[in-house]
Amino acid sequence: MSDLLSAFLHLLLLFKLVAPVTFRHHRYDDLVRTLYKVHNQCPYVTRIYSIGRSVKGRHLYVLEFSDYPGIHEALEPEVKYVGNMHGDEVLGRELLLQLSEFLCEEFRNQNQRITRLIQETRIHILPSMNPDGYEAAANQGPKVPGHLVGRNNANEVDLNRNFPDLNTYFYYNEKHGGPNHHLPLPDNWESQVEPETEAVIRWMRSFNFVLSANLHGGAVVANYPYDKSPGHRFRNAHSTTNSPTPDDKLFQKLAKVYSYAHGWMHQGWNCGDYFPDGITNGASWYSLSKGMQDFNYLHTNCFEITLELSCNKFPRQEELQREWLGNREALIQFLEQVHHGIKGMVLDENHHNLTGAVISVSGINHDVTAGEQGDYFRLLLPGTYTVTATAPGFDPLTENVIVHPGKPTLVNFYLKRSITQVNPAKKAPGGGQGSRVKAQPRITKKKDGARKQPHRGPA
Ligand SMILES: [Zn+2]
Repeated sequence: MSDLLSAFLHLLLLFKLVAPVTFRHHRYDDLVRTLYKVHNQCPYVTRIYSIGRSVKGRHLYVLEFSDYPGIHEALEPEVKYVGNMHGDEVLGRELLLQLSEFLCEEFRNQNQRITRLIQETRIHILPSMNPDGYEAAANQGPKVPGHLVGRNNANEVDLNRNFPDLNTYFYYNEKHGGPNHHLPLPDNWESQVEPETEAVIRWMRSFNFVLSANLHGGAVVANYPYDKSPGHRFRNAHSTTNSPTPDDKLFQKLAKVYSYAHGWMHQGWNCGDYFPDGITNGASWYSLSKGMQDFNYLHTNCFEITLELSCNKFPRQEELQREWLGNREALIQFLEQVHHGIKGMVLDENHHNLTGAVISVSGINHDVTAGEQGDYFRLLLPGTYTVTATAPGFDPLTENVIVHPGKPTLVNFYLKRSITQVNPAKKAPGGGQGSRVKAQPRITKKKDGARKQPHRGPA
Protein backbone atom coordinates (compact mmCIF):
# COMPACT_ATOMS: atom_id res chain seq x y z
CA MET A 1 0.00 0.00 0.00
CA SER A 2 2.76 2.42 0.97
CA ASP A 3 4.59 1.36 -2.20
CA LEU A 4 1.55 2.20 -4.22
CA LEU A 5 1.21 5.51 -2.47
CA SER A 6 4.85 6.35 -3.05
CA ALA A 7 4.54 5.37 -6.72
CA PHE A 8 1.48 7.59 -6.98
CA LEU A 9 3.28 10.53 -5.36
CA HIS A 10 6.24 9.94 -7.60
CA LEU A 11 3.99 10.06 -10.63
CA LEU A 12 2.39 13.25 -9.37
CA LEU A 13 5.79 14.85 -8.89
CA LEU A 14 6.93 13.68 -12.31
CA PHE A 15 3.81 15.09 -13.90
CA LYS A 16 4.35 18.38 -12.10
CA LEU A 17 7.90 18.55 -13.41
CA VAL A 18 6.97 17.60 -16.92
CA ALA A 19 3.86 19.68 -17.24
CA PRO A 20 4.08 22.71 -14.93
CA VAL A 21 1.28 25.25 -15.06
CA THR A 22 2.59 27.70 -17.65
CA PHE A 23 0.32 30.56 -16.68
CA ARG A 24 0.81 31.08 -12.99
CA HIS A 25 2.06 33.71 -10.60
CA HIS A 26 5.75 33.25 -9.80
CA ARG A 27 7.03 33.87 -6.30
CA TYR A 28 10.68 34.92 -6.03
CA ASP A 29 12.15 31.37 -5.97
CA ASP A 30 9.92 30.33 -8.82
CA LEU A 31 10.95 33.39 -10.82
CA VAL A 32 14.64 32.58 -10.35
CA ARG A 33 14.04 28.92 -11.32
CA THR A 34 12.16 30.00 -14.43
CA LEU A 35 14.95 32.33 -15.54
CA TYR A 36 17.51 29.54 -15.10
CA LYS A 37 15.24 27.09 -16.90
CA VAL A 38 15.14 29.44 -19.90
CA HIS A 39 18.89 29.89 -19.72
CA ASN A 40 19.44 26.13 -19.61
CA GLN A 41 17.18 25.65 -22.61
CA CYS A 42 18.87 28.42 -24.61
CA PRO A 43 22.39 28.58 -23.16
CA TYR A 44 24.07 30.02 -26.25
CA VAL A 45 21.78 33.02 -26.66
CA THR A 46 21.08 33.91 -23.03
CA ARG A 47 22.87 35.05 -19.91
CA ILE A 48 21.65 35.75 -16.39
CA TYR A 49 23.19 38.51 -14.34
CA SER A 50 22.24 40.41 -11.22
CA ILE A 51 22.33 44.21 -11.14
CA GLY A 52 22.18 44.36 -7.35
CA ARG A 53 19.98 43.46 -4.41
CA SER A 54 16.74 44.70 -2.93
CA VAL A 55 16.46 46.07 0.61
CA LYS A 56 15.79 42.53 1.87
CA GLY A 57 18.68 41.09 -0.13
CA ARG A 58 16.84 39.57 -3.09
CA HIS A 59 18.75 39.69 -6.34
CA LEU A 60 17.53 41.89 -9.16
CA TYR A 61 18.09 39.35 -11.93
CA VAL A 62 18.27 40.24 -15.59
CA LEU A 63 17.94 37.74 -18.41
CA GLU A 64 19.81 38.81 -21.52
CA PHE A 65 19.11 37.56 -25.04
CA SER A 66 21.80 38.04 -27.68
CA ASP A 67 23.74 36.00 -30.23
CA TYR A 68 26.80 36.97 -28.17
CA PRO A 69 25.53 37.19 -24.59
CA GLY A 70 27.63 39.44 -22.38
CA ILE A 71 29.18 41.32 -25.29
CA HIS A 72 28.26 44.61 -26.89
CA GLU A 73 28.65 44.30 -30.64
CA ALA A 74 29.19 47.63 -32.37
CA LEU A 75 26.03 48.83 -34.15
CA GLU A 76 23.85 46.27 -32.37
CA PRO A 77 21.38 48.18 -30.20
CA GLU A 78 20.64 47.41 -26.55
CA VAL A 79 17.03 47.38 -25.38
CA LYS A 80 15.47 46.68 -21.98
CA TYR A 81 12.20 45.74 -20.33
CA VAL A 82 11.57 46.43 -16.65
CA GLY A 83 8.68 44.84 -14.78
CA ASN A 84 7.12 44.92 -11.32
CA MET A 85 8.65 48.23 -10.18
CA HIS A 86 5.52 48.58 -8.11
CA GLY A 87 5.46 45.28 -6.22
CA ASP A 88 1.67 44.96 -6.36
CA GLU A 89 1.52 45.51 -10.15
CA VAL A 90 2.35 41.97 -11.09
CA LEU A 91 1.25 41.47 -14.69
CA GLY A 92 4.46 42.91 -16.18
CA ARG A 93 6.51 40.43 -14.17
CA GLU A 94 4.49 37.49 -15.51
CA LEU A 95 4.48 38.82 -19.08
CA LEU A 96 8.26 39.23 -19.05
CA LEU A 97 8.70 35.64 -17.85
CA GLN A 98 6.34 34.49 -20.60
CA LEU A 99 8.26 36.59 -23.11
CA SER A 100 11.54 35.02 -21.98
CA GLU A 101 10.16 31.52 -22.44
CA PHE A 102 8.62 32.49 -25.77
CA LEU A 103 11.82 34.00 -27.18
CA CYS A 104 13.80 30.91 -26.19
CA GLU A 105 11.21 28.48 -27.51
CA GLU A 106 10.80 30.28 -30.83
CA PHE A 107 14.55 30.58 -31.23
CA ARG A 108 14.80 26.81 -30.75
CA ASN A 109 11.99 26.36 -33.29
CA GLN A 110 14.00 28.50 -35.74
CA ASN A 111 11.25 31.08 -35.98
CA GLN A 112 12.84 33.50 -38.48
CA ARG A 113 11.49 36.68 -36.95
CA ILE A 114 12.64 35.82 -33.42
CA THR A 115 16.02 34.47 -34.59
CA ARG A 116 16.64 37.69 -36.49
CA LEU A 117 15.58 39.78 -33.49
CA ILE A 118 18.01 37.95 -31.20
CA GLN A 119 20.82 38.13 -33.77
CA GLU A 120 20.40 41.86 -34.36
CA THR A 121 19.45 43.06 -30.87
CA ARG A 122 20.74 42.72 -27.33
CA ILE A 123 17.64 42.35 -25.15
CA HIS A 124 17.79 42.78 -21.36
CA ILE A 125 14.80 41.66 -19.30
CA LEU A 126 14.41 42.62 -15.62
CA PRO A 127 11.15 40.88 -14.63
CA SER A 128 11.06 42.38 -11.13
CA MET A 129 12.60 45.63 -9.97
CA ASN A 130 10.83 45.35 -6.62
CA PRO A 131 10.93 41.69 -5.49
CA ASP A 132 10.33 42.64 -1.82
CA GLY A 133 7.15 44.54 -2.65
CA TYR A 134 6.01 41.61 -4.77
CA GLU A 135 6.33 39.12 -1.91
CA ALA A 136 4.24 41.39 0.33
CA ALA A 137 1.60 41.70 -2.39
CA ALA A 138 1.65 37.97 -3.15
CA ASN A 139 1.16 37.13 0.54
CA GLN A 140 -2.05 39.10 0.32
CA GLY A 141 -2.93 37.53 -3.04
CA PRO A 142 -5.22 38.73 -5.83
CA LYS A 143 -8.08 40.89 -4.63
CA VAL A 144 -10.66 42.40 -6.91
CA PRO A 145 -10.17 45.38 -6.85
CA GLY A 146 -8.95 46.32 -3.44
CA HIS A 147 -6.16 48.14 -1.76
CA LEU A 148 -3.03 46.13 -2.20
CA VAL A 149 0.11 46.18 -0.15
CA GLY A 150 3.52 45.96 -1.76
CA ARG A 151 3.52 48.93 -4.13
CA ASN A 152 6.58 50.37 -2.40
CA ASN A 153 9.89 48.70 -1.60
CA ALA A 154 10.65 47.32 1.87
CA ASN A 155 11.55 50.84 3.08
CA GLU A 156 8.06 52.00 2.01
CA VAL A 157 9.46 54.11 -0.81
CA ASP A 158 7.73 54.37 -4.19
CA LEU A 159 10.55 53.54 -6.61
CA ASN A 160 8.89 55.47 -9.44
CA ARG A 161 9.21 58.66 -7.35
CA ASN A 162 12.78 57.91 -6.34
CA PHE A 163 14.98 58.87 -9.31
CA PRO A 164 16.97 62.11 -9.31
CA ASP A 165 14.87 64.97 -10.68
CA LEU A 166 16.61 66.14 -13.83
CA ASN A 167 13.54 67.81 -15.38
CA THR A 168 13.99 71.08 -13.51
CA TYR A 169 17.60 71.14 -14.65
CA PHE A 170 16.54 70.54 -18.26
CA TYR A 171 13.86 73.26 -18.20
CA TYR A 172 16.48 75.67 -16.88
CA ASN A 173 18.96 74.68 -19.62
CA GLU A 174 16.28 75.03 -22.27
CA LYS A 175 15.98 78.71 -21.39
CA HIS A 176 19.54 79.53 -20.42
CA GLY A 177 21.65 77.05 -22.41
CA GLY A 178 23.41 73.93 -21.21
CA PRO A 179 23.32 70.22 -21.97
CA ASN A 180 20.11 68.84 -23.44
CA HIS A 181 20.86 65.18 -22.63
CA HIS A 182 23.18 63.18 -20.40
CA LEU A 183 22.40 65.61 -17.61
CA PRO A 184 24.74 64.85 -14.71
CA LEU A 185 23.63 63.16 -11.50
CA PRO A 186 23.49 65.30 -8.38
CA ASP A 187 26.37 64.95 -5.90
CA ASN A 188 25.81 62.12 -3.39
CA TRP A 189 22.96 60.77 -5.49
CA GLU A 190 23.54 57.28 -4.08
CA SER A 191 22.59 58.43 -0.60
CA GLN A 192 19.34 59.93 -1.91
CA VAL A 193 17.95 56.80 -3.60
CA GLU A 194 16.86 53.30 -2.60
CA PRO A 195 19.06 50.24 -3.27
CA GLU A 196 16.77 49.10 -6.12
CA THR A 197 16.91 52.54 -7.74
CA GLU A 198 20.67 52.75 -7.34
CA ALA A 199 21.08 49.33 -8.97
CA VAL A 200 18.92 50.35 -11.92
CA ILE A 201 20.75 53.67 -12.37
CA ARG A 202 24.12 51.90 -12.40
CA TRP A 203 22.67 49.40 -14.87
CA MET A 204 21.45 52.21 -17.15
CA ARG A 205 24.89 53.81 -17.04
CA SER A 206 26.78 50.62 -17.83
CA PHE A 207 24.93 49.78 -21.07
CA ASN A 208 24.16 52.10 -23.96
CA PHE A 209 20.42 51.39 -23.92
CA VAL A 210 18.49 52.83 -26.83
CA LEU A 211 14.92 51.81 -26.08
CA SER A 212 13.03 50.62 -23.01
CA ALA A 213 9.61 49.99 -21.53
CA ASN A 214 8.60 49.94 -17.87
CA LEU A 215 5.61 47.66 -17.22
CA HIS A 216 2.94 48.69 -14.70
CA GLY A 217 -0.73 48.05 -13.92
CA GLY A 218 -3.86 49.77 -12.69
CA ALA A 219 -4.85 51.18 -16.09
CA VAL A 220 -4.46 50.17 -19.74
CA VAL A 221 -2.51 52.81 -21.65
CA ALA A 222 0.94 53.48 -23.12
CA ASN A 223 2.35 56.51 -21.32
CA TYR A 224 5.25 58.55 -22.72
CA PRO A 225 7.44 61.32 -21.25
CA TYR A 226 7.50 63.78 -19.76
CA ASP A 227 5.78 62.53 -16.63
CA LYS A 228 6.58 65.77 -14.87
CA SER A 229 4.96 69.02 -15.93
CA PRO A 230 7.09 72.18 -15.79
CA GLY A 231 4.63 73.67 -13.29
CA HIS A 232 4.58 70.58 -11.04
CA ARG A 233 5.84 72.47 -8.01
CA PHE A 234 3.36 75.30 -8.26
CA ARG A 235 0.19 73.42 -9.05
CA ASN A 236 -1.53 70.79 -7.01
CA ALA A 237 -0.60 67.14 -7.39
CA HIS A 238 -3.55 66.52 -9.71
CA SER A 239 -2.53 69.14 -12.26
CA THR A 240 -2.62 67.94 -15.84
CA THR A 241 -0.54 69.65 -18.51
CA ASN A 242 0.71 68.12 -21.73
CA SER A 243 4.50 68.18 -21.30
CA PRO A 244 6.09 67.07 -24.54
CA THR A 245 9.74 66.19 -24.93
CA PRO A 246 11.68 67.43 -27.98
CA ASP A 247 11.03 63.90 -29.33
CA ASP A 248 7.26 64.09 -28.80
CA LYS A 249 6.20 62.72 -32.20
CA LEU A 250 8.61 59.83 -31.92
CA PHE A 251 7.39 58.97 -28.42
CA GLN A 252 3.78 59.06 -29.62
CA LYS A 253 4.69 56.66 -32.41
CA LEU A 254 6.46 54.29 -30.00
CA ALA A 255 3.46 54.34 -27.67
CA LYS A 256 1.10 53.70 -30.59
CA VAL A 257 3.14 50.78 -31.82
CA TYR A 258 2.47 49.12 -28.49
CA SER A 259 -1.18 50.13 -28.14
CA TYR A 260 -2.11 49.06 -31.69
CA ALA A 261 -0.28 45.76 -31.50
CA HIS A 262 -1.97 45.12 -28.15
CA GLY A 263 -5.26 43.25 -28.15
CA TRP A 264 -7.42 46.11 -26.82
CA MET A 265 -5.26 48.99 -25.53
CA HIS A 266 -5.74 51.07 -28.72
CA GLN A 267 -9.53 51.04 -28.31
CA GLY A 268 -9.03 53.71 -25.68
CA TRP A 269 -11.87 52.81 -23.31
CA ASN A 270 -10.35 50.74 -20.53
CA CYS A 271 -10.82 50.55 -16.76
CA GLY A 272 -13.31 53.44 -16.86
CA ASP A 273 -10.80 55.83 -18.48
CA TYR A 274 -10.58 57.01 -22.06
CA PHE A 275 -7.25 57.61 -23.80
CA PRO A 276 -7.40 58.33 -27.54
CA ASP A 277 -5.40 55.63 -29.38
CA GLY A 278 -4.64 54.08 -25.99
CA ILE A 279 -1.73 56.46 -25.40
CA THR A 280 -1.08 59.49 -23.20
CA ASN A 281 1.59 61.98 -22.35
CA GLY A 282 2.50 61.27 -18.72
CA ALA A 283 1.98 64.76 -17.33
CA SER A 284 -1.25 65.28 -19.25
CA TRP A 285 -2.63 62.30 -17.30
CA TYR A 286 -1.13 63.36 -13.97
CA SER A 287 2.16 65.02 -13.19
CA LEU A 288 4.72 62.88 -11.47
CA SER A 289 8.16 63.90 -10.26
CA LYS A 290 11.30 61.72 -10.03
CA GLY A 291 9.90 58.99 -12.27
CA MET A 292 12.04 56.52 -14.19
CA GLN A 293 11.04 57.33 -17.79
CA ASP A 294 11.97 61.03 -17.56
CA PHE A 295 15.26 60.02 -15.95
CA ASN A 296 16.07 57.61 -18.81
CA TYR A 297 15.55 60.34 -21.38
CA LEU A 298 17.45 63.07 -19.56
CA HIS A 299 20.37 61.08 -18.16
CA THR A 300 21.04 58.45 -20.84
CA ASN A 301 20.50 57.80 -24.54
CA CYS A 302 17.52 55.62 -23.73
CA PHE A 303 13.95 56.32 -24.83
CA GLU A 304 11.62 54.74 -22.29
CA ILE A 305 7.84 54.56 -22.16
CA THR A 306 5.65 53.30 -19.31
CA LEU A 307 3.10 50.63 -20.12
CA GLU A 308 0.02 50.32 -17.93
CA LEU A 309 -1.22 46.85 -18.75
CA SER A 310 -4.17 45.79 -16.60
CA CYS A 311 -7.09 47.36 -14.74
CA ASN A 312 -6.61 44.89 -11.95
CA LYS A 313 -3.07 45.23 -10.62
CA PHE A 314 -2.96 41.62 -9.43
CA PRO A 315 -5.01 39.62 -11.95
CA ARG A 316 -6.21 36.15 -11.10
CA GLN A 317 -4.11 33.30 -12.46
CA GLU A 318 -6.87 32.34 -14.92
CA GLU A 319 -6.54 35.73 -16.61
CA LEU A 320 -2.82 35.42 -17.34
CA GLN A 321 -3.15 33.51 -20.60
CA ARG A 322 -5.54 36.04 -22.11
CA GLU A 323 -3.20 38.84 -21.00
CA TRP A 324 -0.21 37.13 -22.57
CA LEU A 325 -2.05 36.67 -25.87
CA GLY A 326 -3.13 40.33 -25.73
CA ASN A 327 0.45 41.56 -25.16
CA ARG A 328 2.66 39.08 -27.01
CA GLU A 329 2.73 40.78 -30.41
CA ALA A 330 3.05 44.24 -28.82
CA LEU A 331 6.05 43.15 -26.74
CA ILE A 332 7.80 41.84 -29.87
CA GLN A 333 6.89 44.80 -32.10
CA PHE A 334 8.10 47.25 -29.48
CA LEU A 335 11.51 45.53 -29.38
CA GLU A 336 11.69 45.77 -33.17
CA GLN A 337 11.29 49.56 -32.96
CA VAL A 338 14.90 49.83 -31.83
CA HIS A 339 15.84 49.17 -35.48
CA HIS A 340 14.64 52.52 -36.77
CA GLY A 341 16.16 55.94 -37.35
CA ILE A 342 19.90 56.24 -37.91
CA LYS A 343 22.95 54.56 -36.49
CA GLY A 344 26.63 54.43 -37.30
CA MET A 345 30.18 54.89 -36.13
CA VAL A 346 31.97 58.06 -35.16
CA LEU A 347 35.68 57.62 -35.95
CA ASP A 348 38.78 59.75 -36.32
CA GLU A 349 41.00 59.79 -39.41
CA ASN A 350 42.85 56.70 -38.16
CA HIS A 351 39.56 54.85 -37.65
CA HIS A 352 39.78 55.03 -33.88
CA ASN A 353 36.49 55.14 -31.97
CA LEU A 354 35.38 58.54 -30.81
CA THR A 355 33.63 57.45 -27.65
CA GLY A 356 31.48 60.23 -26.25
CA ALA A 357 31.03 61.98 -29.60
CA VAL A 358 27.70 63.80 -29.69
CA ILE A 359 25.14 63.37 -32.45
CA SER A 360 22.65 66.19 -32.84
CA VAL A 361 19.69 66.46 -35.15
CA SER A 362 18.71 69.89 -36.38
CA GLY A 363 15.33 70.91 -34.99
CA ILE A 364 15.32 68.39 -32.12
CA ASN A 365 16.80 69.72 -28.91
CA HIS A 366 17.96 66.32 -27.67
CA ASP A 367 21.31 64.84 -28.63
CA VAL A 368 22.65 61.33 -28.21
CA THR A 369 26.17 60.28 -27.27
CA ALA A 370 28.23 57.59 -28.98
CA GLY A 371 28.99 54.51 -26.88
CA GLU A 372 32.30 52.94 -25.88
CA GLN A 373 32.92 51.48 -29.31
CA GLY A 374 32.15 54.77 -31.05
CA ASP A 375 28.76 53.56 -32.24
CA TYR A 376 25.66 55.68 -31.88
CA PHE A 377 21.93 55.07 -32.29
CA ARG A 378 19.41 57.82 -32.93
CA LEU A 379 15.75 56.80 -33.15
CA LEU A 380 13.92 59.00 -35.66
CA LEU A 381 10.67 58.96 -37.60
CA PRO A 382 10.92 58.63 -41.40
CA GLY A 383 11.95 61.93 -43.01
CA THR A 384 14.93 64.06 -44.00
CA TYR A 385 17.27 65.30 -41.29
CA THR A 386 20.40 67.38 -40.89
CA VAL A 387 22.65 65.49 -38.51
CA THR A 388 25.89 66.73 -36.95
CA ALA A 389 28.59 64.80 -35.14
CA THR A 390 30.85 66.67 -32.73
CA ALA A 391 33.70 65.60 -30.50
CA PRO A 392 36.11 67.67 -28.41
CA GLY A 393 39.23 68.49 -30.41
CA PHE A 394 37.61 67.62 -33.75
CA ASP A 395 35.86 69.64 -36.41
CA PRO A 396 32.11 69.00 -36.42
CA LEU A 397 30.72 67.21 -39.44
CA THR A 398 27.21 67.61 -40.82
CA GLU A 399 25.32 65.24 -43.12
CA ASN A 400 21.88 65.31 -44.68
CA VAL A 401 20.20 62.00 -44.02
CA ILE A 402 17.04 60.33 -45.23
CA VAL A 403 15.34 58.01 -42.76
CA HIS A 404 13.13 55.33 -44.28
CA PRO A 405 10.29 53.50 -42.52
CA GLY A 406 12.12 50.18 -42.63
CA LYS A 407 15.54 49.46 -41.25
CA PRO A 408 17.84 52.17 -39.87
CA THR A 409 19.96 54.33 -42.17
CA LEU A 410 23.66 53.77 -41.62
CA VAL A 411 25.57 57.05 -41.31
CA ASN A 412 29.23 56.93 -40.31
CA PHE A 413 31.10 60.08 -39.37
CA TYR A 414 34.86 60.42 -39.88
CA LEU A 415 35.95 63.49 -37.94
CA LYS A 416 39.13 65.44 -38.61
CA ARG A 417 41.23 66.75 -35.78
CA SER A 418 40.64 70.44 -35.37
CA ILE A 419 43.83 72.32 -36.24
CA THR A 420 42.91 75.29 -34.06
CA GLN A 421 42.55 73.06 -31.03
CA VAL A 422 45.54 70.82 -31.61
CA ASN A 423 47.77 73.86 -31.62
CA PRO A 424 45.79 76.75 -30.19
CA ALA A 425 48.85 79.07 -30.12
CA LYS A 426 48.98 79.21 -33.93
CA LYS A 427 46.11 80.70 -35.85
CA ALA A 428 45.05 77.96 -38.25
CA PRO A 429 44.35 79.28 -41.72
CA GLY A 430 40.79 78.13 -42.43
CA GLY A 431 40.78 75.17 -40.08
CA GLY A 432 38.32 72.50 -41.03
CA GLN A 433 38.22 73.46 -44.68
CA GLY A 434 37.80 70.63 -47.06
CA SER A 435 35.46 68.81 -44.75
CA ARG A 436 31.75 69.23 -45.08
CA VAL A 437 31.52 71.38 -42.02
CA LYS A 438 28.69 73.78 -41.59
CA ALA A 439 28.81 76.71 -39.22
CA GLN A 440 28.75 75.25 -35.73
CA PRO A 441 29.67 76.78 -32.41
CA ARG A 442 33.21 75.96 -31.31
CA ILE A 443 33.39 73.36 -28.64
CA THR A 444 35.37 74.27 -25.61
CA LYS A 445 37.59 71.40 -24.68
CA LYS A 446 36.69 70.11 -21.27
CA LYS A 447 38.16 67.41 -19.15
CA ASP A 448 35.19 65.10 -19.24
CA GLY A 449 34.54 65.67 -22.86
CA ALA A 450 31.38 65.68 -24.83
CA ARG A 451 28.97 65.47 -21.95
CA LYS A 452 29.47 69.07 -20.97
CA GLN A 453 29.38 70.69 -24.38
CA PRO A 454 27.06 73.58 -24.92
CA HIS A 455 24.01 72.25 -26.74
CA ARG A 456 22.83 73.42 -30.09
CA GLY A 457 19.22 74.39 -29.95
CA PRO A 458 16.62 73.81 -32.64
CA ALA A 459 17.60 75.25 -35.97
ZN1 LIG B 1 2.82 51.40 -11.18
